[in-house]
Amino acid sequence: MGGLQQRPRERGEHGLVRRRFVERLRRNGIRDPRVLEAFAQVRRHELVPEALRGRAYADTPLPIGEGQTISAPGIVAAMTQALELRGDETVLEVGTGSGYQTAILSRLAARVISIERVPRLAAAARRALDAFAVTNVVVHLGDGTQGRPADAPYDAIVITAGGPEIPEPLLGQLAVNGRLVGPCGPRGAQELVRIRRVSLRRFARESLGACRFVDLIGAHGWVG
Ligand code: SAH
Repeated sequence: MGGLQQRPRERGEHGLVRRRFVERLRRNGIRDPRVLEAFAQVRRHELVPEALRGRAYADTPLPIGEGQTISAPGIVAAMTQALELRGDETVLEVGTGSGYQTAILSRLAARVISIERVPRLAAAARRALDAFAVTNVVVHLGDGTQGRPADAPYDAIVITAGGPEIPEPLLGQLAVNGRLVGPCGPRGAQELVRIRRVSLRRFARESLGACRFVDLIGAHGWVG
């Protein structure tokens, strides 16, 4: 298919572009060295449609089919850093999408459970993660607003789509001292929030700023 011959050169070019991209993340406030290293390693261009590969390291969301997008890398980095991962955590991700954030998380935590509601996207993400030789991730098909009690509690939870509220079941599945990061609020006026479970009954909530994500659709999200 000719692709084989082109591959090494392509990879080199993307490598250089990715180093500049990581420099930009650093300038924009991403300081955690483990997070920066994960962004330096994961090949985002392999997760976007072929025709859009030239824009893979621009700070912009890109379409991945099924009306969904791969989130802009700047916000993925900010959300990842806000999870404060050290390497021994079990993380739940709601909204696998392309699998980009999943691949990043796999490098920063012990285990990642990711849930995607669109079958074709879940299948494509599984294939991509296999191609990256990622072994500590499981992608489940289903409604992530219900979480996944079987693997709870989670040290960290990230939601990559926006519903009206942070789904109640996810708060229940967060470990004490655990962090949840995700968007919520009315369409067009979403806020990125971080919720820390301070004790069994107490949750501390802070705003990380305005944001814009695709719809979180499910029992504890928008009606699909
Ligand atoms: N982190 C992903 C974001 C993809 S967009 C990336 O960068 O590629 C958000 C994803 O959430 C979409 O794929 C969408 O299908 C999915 N989604 C929306 N509601 C969901 C739900 N209730 N459960 C699981 N996935 C959901």
